[in-house]
Amino acid sequence: MLVLRGGTLIDGTGRAPLRDATLVIEDGRVEAVTTGAAATWPSSAEVIDVAGMTVLPGLIDCHDHMALHGYELASRWELNEAGSTRHLRTARAIEHTLAMGYTTIRDAGGLDAGFRAAIEQGLLAGPRLLTAVAIISPIGGIGDRVSPSGHECMVPADPALPRGVANGVDEVRRVVRTMVRAGADVIKCATTGGASSRAGHGPKDPAFDPDEMRALVDEAHALGRKVMCHALGGPGLRLALEAGVDSIEHGCYLDEDPELIPMMAERSTFFVPTLTVYEYHSESKAAHVRERSRALREHHLASIQRALAAGVKVVAGTDAGGHGHPPNAAELQHLVAAGLTPLQAIRAATGWAAECVGLEREIGTLEKAKRADLVVVAGDPLADMGILQSAERIRLVVKDGVTQLRR
Ligand SMILES: [Zn+2]
Repeated sequence: MLVLRGGTLIDGTGRAPLRDATLVIEDGRVEAVTTGAAATWPSSAEVIDVAGMTVLPGLIDCHDHMALHGYELASRWELNEAGSTRHLRTARAIEHTLAMGYTTIRDAGGLDAGFRAAIEQGLLAGPRLLTAVAIISPIGGIGDRVSPSGHECMVPADPALPRGVANGVDEVRRVVRTMVRAGADVIKCATTGGASSRAGHGPKDPAFDPDEMRALVDEAHALGRKVMCHALGGPGLRLALEAGVDSIEHGCYLDEDPELIPMMAERSTFFVPTLTVYEYHSESKAAHVRERSRALREHHLASIQRALAAGVKVVAGTDAGGHGHPPNAAELQHLVAAGLTPLQAIRAATGWAAECVGLEREIGTLEKAKRADLVVVAGDPLADMGILQSAERIRLVVKDGVTQLRR
């Protein structure tokens, strides 16, 4: 039994912080939440005094790419170093992410399910992982590996990372099944280009047709997988929503079509804006990437504000990997700058995020019977969200009731 005594609890439900809170954890779950003198526990319990600190649910990043380490072609095609070196680099990023209080990561492509198995087997300390394995898109889409010269990637496909190119209804169903066979927890697809995609396939250029997208969503849901869809703007964004995807990733130009945000509110579609990556791309050396990122910024902020006002759940995702693996909590600071209250920003990485990834019955809030995933930070993140990016401030990380880090 583990007892955390005297801290301020932000429970992830959106409720106001609870001062002088005591959290009792047993068998990997929250046994009780009490305040002040009402708290009791057996003498055999391990008691940690967390006065002056804030206890939060373990943080969740809904859009990461743990196995990506740069946008350069040589890195993306895995030509620049041996697979063993790359895998250990990924393992290091996974360990570090856990140590920063992130106990759940949804990987949006590039991470094979072997990493999840390694964590489950105790070979590696890491967050609980949900992986999409690889991005599904048609020829010319963001999951199609083609160089600026038009050469297709000739690196042999790793069976743990099947190719995600699919054209036509039958092939889309086949590729969704292939991802699930390779261990995908979620299906990731793309119906538009993006900021960093090749010139000629930008944020408003569509990919897939309605029949293909309906087949993709239908097949994924039939296999019990949610669909996270990369969609920035233009007809591809509408297509994704009409096909019934579960979350819109990026969603930069949702503000341009007045029907889209109400549609998301009505269907409970989650919005994962990924602000961190666009800040990075705004300084890109590639002119087309820089220009796209700067052009979308005002629309992106307007989209977030309108989505919140309409009751759409906005959740945190960094899209880390290509831009390295900075502290994932940078996204929370960006969300506050975009108009979320600090408490909403925390919810975006806890309670709402757990709903987005489909684990709301187990994680995301610190309430009785939930899994004991939590982080203890020195100070008050509601006053200064930046403290969640400081390793020295992260004092305790617990996953499934087991201490992962104590400082
Ligand atoms: Zn991404």
